[in-house]
Amino acid sequence: MFTKNDFLDKDSIEILADTFGINVTTVNDQESFDYVKAYDEEGEASEQNFVERAPVITIMGHVDHGKTSLLDYIRSAKVAAGEAGGITQHVGAYMVEKNGRNITFIDTPGHEAFTEMRSRGAKVTDIVIVVVAADDGVKPQTKEAVEHAKAAGVPIIIAVNKMDKESANPDLVKAQLAELGITPIDWGGEHEFVPVSAKTGMGIEDLLETILLQADVLELKADPSRDVKATVIESSLEKGRGPVATVVVEDGTMRVGDIVVAGVAFGKVKALLNDRGIAVKEALPGEPVVVLGLSEVPGAGETLISVKTDKIAREYAKKKAEYLRQKELSKSTKVSLDELSDMIAEGALKTLPVIIKADVQGSLEAIKGSLEKIRNAETKVNIVSAGIGGITESDVALASASSNCIILGFHVRPTGTVKERAKSSGIEIKTYNIIYDLIDDVTNIVTGLMAPVIREENIGQAMVREVFAVPKLGHIAGCIVTDGTINRGVKIRVIRDGVIIYEGSVSSLKRFKDDVKEVGKGYECGVGIEGYTDIKVGDYIESFKEVEEKAKL
Ligand code: GDP
Repeated sequence: MFTKNDFLDKDSIEILADTFGINVTTVNDQESFDYVKAYDEEGEASEQNFVERAPVITIMGHVDHGKTSLLDYIRSAKVAAGEAGGITQHVGAYMVEKNGRNITFIDTPGHEAFTEMRSRGAKVTDIVIVVVAADDGVKPQTKEAVEHAKAAGVPIIIAVNKMDKESANPDLVKAQLAELGITPIDWGGEHEFVPVSAKTGMGIEDLLETILLQADVLELKADPSRDVKATVIESSLEKGRGPVATVVVEDGTMRVGDIVVAGVAFGKVKALLNDRGIAVKEALPGEPVVVLGLSEVPGAGETLISVKTDKIAREYAKKKAEYLRQKELSKSTKVSLDELSDMIAEGALKTLPVIIKADVQGSLEAIKGSLEKIRNAETKVNIVSAGIGGITESDVALASASSNCIILGFHVRPTGTVKERAKSSGIEIKTYNIIYDLIDDVTNIVTGLMAPVIREENIGQAMVREVFAVPKLGHIAGCIVTDGTINRGVKIRVIRDGVIIYEGSVSSLKRFKDDVKEVGKGYECGVGIEGYTDIKVGDYIESFKEVEEKAKL
């Protein structure tokens, strides 16, 4: 049964139309704002204008193998000493010079960021450097990094790091990588392995030279006389400056005064800053630059282009926003828990896929054991994945990949981006503090009957940015409200790395010097927690209410 507000998929539409003898043509509504296509069609880069452009590099590898150290070393060694301001702030990308040529590094180590951008169609990276610690060898994330780079079809250079260590064993690294199909040149393969140390600086120059050689092979060319096309690497809303985006120019030249569009954001470029925060007039292909003057914060991985008029830019952005809104609405037809329960009751669903996250192994085993036993004549619980720790974006991604999957959290809570992602992909996350409640709920779903519940109403979340010790009051958490509101007089919990570590109530809530009852999203506030002083920067504070809900089937 569908109502007029529901969205139908293409197949259903065709069947329906066929029944009524109507012809259907499917239009791609994304085409109306496909400004990248328009840009590509508008004018070709002309070969006589081609110049060499800086290669764009992403560093990936296993945690603690030295990605950050390597980036930091390269940056500090290569930014001319005494240059005004030095390195002031993190902008998401920076450029260094070697042999009179430029190399751009994307300063977001990790394959998640890389893949996230790639999934949005962005191909910013020319070469991937996979860092492997010589004393540790190939680890799970090394494999992932290699897989991600291979999937992107990007050349890989291996930086064998921590060569200063006595326990360094580069041959083991070579052998392990050869097994993954990454064979070193000196073993007859085609991959460069560069021994380096991010601690002593050994081999870093070789690494940069290897990058340039690889760039030569790629023949990276661009036409600076064109209108600009760039990729958004990072973006944020900054006090006093408004939306700020770091982009890497792919083709053409970016100039102050350009009228640009990037996803739902558009505007006239007010100012451009280089990677050291210094105002510049223009940015050339391959260069990173910070853009000021956009109407909104564009998403990472979004393509930015310049267009002729403000009207065109606005139009593209508006259409894209409208498209996203429609897409969001269409998600509302995803199944809710109640519907799941109904589907099981009707026999439409034979298994209930769940993902379980718990704070400790003991609870996890207990939950798994109990859930495996829940079944009625036809239905059973299918544990898709079970793990220790907070609910992560990859849990949400996994849940969206299997239909009707729910996430069950025990003593853990989703925060920040995880919550948003779950909301936007229509994934239901249920969290519990008592094992029996969890088991009861799942039993009720499986038996096709949802019992009356005391539902928890989530009021809001805030992230702790600073902690102050205040005489008499104790420790006060300086927060920014990231979602909903934080209220006085309701319950709160403290969440660290996605795990609940304390539950209690607010003892004081202040904005600047004033006591307040409520602080809304985007605002800063000081929160005192009754009976708790161990608050840390990066913790989340969540305020919630318990509401009784009527029984429903
Ligand atoms: P990431 O997680 O890959 O970003 O790794 P980090 O850059 O944070 O490095 C992890 C640890 O290894 C830190 O304690 C670094 O000081 C250390 N480390 C990184 N590179 C080297 C190196 O070349 N030699 C030695 N001895 N230690 C290193």
